Amino acid sequence: MKEPSHTDILIIGGGMAGGLQALLLTDKSLAEQGFTVRVLDGAPAPAWPDGEPAARVSTLSEASHWLLRHAGAWARLRPARVQGYTSMRVWDQDGTGEVAFDARDAGAESLGWLLENDHLTAALYDAASERDGLDWQCGKAATAIHREDGRWRVEASDDTFTADLLIGADGARSRVRELAGIPGGPRDTGHHALVATIETELPHGGCARQVFMDSGPLALLPLFAEQQGGESHRCSIVWSAWPERVEELMALDDDAFGAALTRATGAALGQARVRGHRAVFPIQERHASAYVGPGLALIGDAAHVIHPLAGQGINLGFLDAAVLAEELGRARQAGLPVAEPAVLARYQRRRRADNLVMQNAMRGFKLLFERRELPVRWLRNSGLNLVNRLAPARHAFMHRALGRAGDLPRTARPMHPRS
Ligand SMILES: Cc1cc2nc3c(=O)[nH]c(=O)nc-3n(C[C@H](O)[C@H](O)[C@H](O)COP(=O)(O)OP(=O)(O)OC[C@H]3O[C@@H](n4cnc5c(N)ncnc54)[C@H](O)[C@@H]3O)c2cc1C
Repeated sequence: MKEPSHTDILIIGGGMAGGLQALLLTDKSLAEQGFTVRVLDGAPAPAWPDGEPAARVSTLSEASHWLLRHAGAWARLRPARVQGYTSMRVWDQDGTGEVAFDARDAGAESLGWLLENDHLTAALYDAASERDGLDWQCGKAATAIHREDGRWRVEASDDTFTADLLIGADGARSRVRELAGIPGGPRDTGHHALVATIETELPHGGCARQVFMDSGPLALLPLFAEQQGGESHRCSIVWSAWPERVEELMALDDDAFGAALTRATGAALGQARVRGHRAVFPIQERHASAYVGPGLALIGDAAHVIHPLAGQGINLGFLDAAVLAEELGRARQAGLPVAEPAVLARYQRRRRADNLVMQNAMRGFKLLFERRELPVRWLRNSGLNLVNRLAPARHAFMHRALGRAGDLPRTARPMHPRS
């Protein structure tokens, strides 16, 4: 066995949350002296996507965009595979309630961006290659963690690594959370999500659309054009529904599925047809009972998994990473040890309540839209129409969607001097 190799911080999981965390912690502007950081990920090294869009995509808020800029990852993205959306339309399938948002009303360039998850991870990994003090190892799954003499010892493949602070960024089924003995769900949401790339008769025009049905919401998220500068007719869909409904949809052949999709969207983009295969993900919610423990912090899906209906999962994960980096940077400047319990507790206080509010809001939305009673439907749809008509209510919605609400870390705001 090789000699253990020590870093200040060891991040288990180099997905989107872990990757951003590593970059923010090795940014020299964060503290007088950056931390030494190691990332371990069980998967092979991230690769740049090519050709057809990948099925797994994420909508990113304005706050996430600033975080990626400050981390030096945004500039590395391939512009031809990044799609901004300047408007949003949400409606009820009954056709009696609708709300629409436009970036211009919020004085924003974009209401958000749609990116393939692999594209984002590849950009984070690429930016990491130029960071001093950062060692990102792929194909190294952590199999055991031990706490000894106030430090962590982590076993991964044939290697052993030690660190003062361990960050669990290893996703929904976090081994770190489990080995640390922190309870964290799961709770079944009663929904499965069907994801696919589709092609529509009409161009999406940079609008993110979502229709709510009794069985659950269907999102049509605008994808990048096949030819740069051209109009795009491709969308990524997330169709969340009761498992029986998703089973029915999966059993349809491509033509029948396209027809079901066209019907469900009220032909908002004309005829729709599926490109490539459809995939299904059961949607389970999770929330870790604590985000921190002695010398340990959880971020991203390792800490919380929410219903994807508002596309907020990784946006929350990015804010976790940014707040943790901000707290650790401040502590470093004050000469405190990296795993100071009061500092970790501050991270938990700043993030856990916000994430819980978002998780509960998603639960509430889902329940509200599956109610069949007429008075509930009437109230709900009148509410949507009212939000649409009242400028202050629309602004409040947009403010949250852009990620401008709440206790924002410095790096999630536009005026950072390094931007
Ligand atoms: C259908 C669907 C649609 C979604 N749409 C959106 C959206 O539009 N916008 C949005 O913000 N969110 C969205 N989400 C949520 C988003 O995908 C997740 O929040 C995000 O992927 C979580 O990122 P993460 O880095 O925390 O975890 P993960 O992406 O799960 O990454 C975890 C990493 O840890 C590694 N790992 C795991 N175990 C180990 C181990 N033992 N040792 C070493 N490495 C390990 C894995 O290889 C992986 O790289 C959606 C989710 C679903 C299911």
